[in-house]
Formats: sequence, C-alpha cells, structure tokens
Amino acid sequence: MFENIKIWWHQGKQYIPDVTNAKLPGIFRGRPVITRSGVDEAALVELCPTGAITGNPVCIDLGKCTFCGECAFRFPEKISFTSDYKLSANVRERLVVKEGDDKGIVVEPSKVRKGVRSLFGQSLKLRQVSAGGDNSCELELNACNNVQFDMSRFGIDFVASPRHADGVVITGPITANMAGPLEICYNAVPDPKIVILVGTDAISGGIFADSPALDRDFLTKYPVDLYVPGNPAHPLTFINGVLDMLKKQ
Ligand code: SF4
Repeated sequence: MFENIKIWWHQGKQYIPDVTNAKLPGIFRGRPVITRSGVDEAALVELCPTGAITGNPVCIDLGKCTFCGECAFRFPEKISFTSDYKLSANVRERLVVKEGDDKGIVVEPSKVRKGVRSLFGQSLKLRQVSAGGDNSCELELNACNNVQFDMSRFGIDFVASPRHADGVVITGPITANMAGPLEICYNAVPDPKIVILVGTDAISGGIFADSPALDRDFLTKYPVDLYVPGNPAHPLTFINGVLDMLKKQ
C-alpha cells in the first residue's frame, strides 16, 4: 500500500489546471510570425508543398499549412513559428497570417451562429467522423479527454452516436468513399447542429487537395462553425477553439 501511495505522490497533479494559459515547449510549431524583411519571395512561395504561402505581402494560410517548418528553416529571417496554440477561427480568412501581424488568431463573437452559445454553452456533445483521415488528428482528439487535458470538465464530450450529438467534428480530407457516410452522419444529428473542421486536411484538403479521390461537396452545402488548424491539431488548439466558440472562458 505504501508503495502505491509513493507512486501516486511521485506522479503529482497530472491535469492542466488552466488550459487557456498552459505553456507548450518551443519545439511545438504554432502561430507563425512573418517579418517585413526582404527575401526572394518567389523562392519562398515555391518551396511550400501545399501552396500555403502567397506573396506581396507574404502570407501563410494556416488552413493549408502542414507545419512542416521548411519555410522557417530556409528563410529564418522572414518566418518563425511561435508556440501559440490558439489557432482556431470561425471565419476562414482569419487563418491567413500576414507579414507584420503580431496579434493572435481569434474566434469572432459576432460571427458565432445564433443559438450556438445559448444552446450548447453548458453541454456540447460531438460525433467525430474520420473522412479519410490518417489517424493523427483522431489521436489528438482522443487525447482531449485524457487525464492531462480533461476536456469533459467543460461539458464537452465525444459521443458514439450522431443521435446523441449536437454536431460533427470532421477530420481527414473527405474522400469520395467517405462523403456519403459523412452526410448520413450529419443528417442523423438533430437540428440545430454545428460543424467543426479539425486539421489541415479537413480545412483545405492539405497535400491531397488536388486529388480526384476527394469529394468535398459537403463543405459547399453546410456551414462550418469552427476551423481548427494543425497537422495534426493539438488538443489545446481544439479545446481553446471550442471554448472560445462557446464563450466558456
Ligand atoms: S510550414 Fe507551412 S507554410 Fe511553411 S513550407 Fe511548410 S506547409 Fe508551407
């Protein structure tokens, strides 16, 4: 018994008391910062594997970025990545970081759909659909409810059935094979419902964007309430994005 108490004592507190202000190590690539220093813009734009970088002025679209870090390795005087994990936005354009930007990415309160906060502010149940995902974002979403992040303390949970859900969380680039099942799942969620896209693949298609194996029509038919960038998205990015959407701060 004393051995067990020793282990318990040694482990200490494992949960993160304040998920809104937790610090991540510098190795984590979060929000980029783009300086105004002059570089060969054409070469910078060219090196990005997903076309996330555009020039004049230099911008990075976090909905397309795979966070590979290549731009920061090749042009360190121009681009660096901070460990700021608050990357979620409810307006797609907000994911585009421009040179000289020094402010964080935010969820705009005025753009949160009517009823989302009043209906789901106390309890939000989500059905996750991996629409051709590679299990990376799915793994991180699973981690949201581990002992460290403990997302369910905020009343936010993943549920097994769309009938019990208030919305769908989509990961993966939405393959043609998964387009139908995704729509069936969406239709099975009672109204009103929300849609959250998690990860670069879901937001833009990522490295698969031009693949004929994708069918992303779903996104032209239904409104998206939250974009959560990352490749994969970090649990703190997801949790903070949802908390901001629900105004649970
Ligand atoms: S980190 Fe993002 S913006 Fe930079 S090269 Fe990789 S994908 Fe492109």
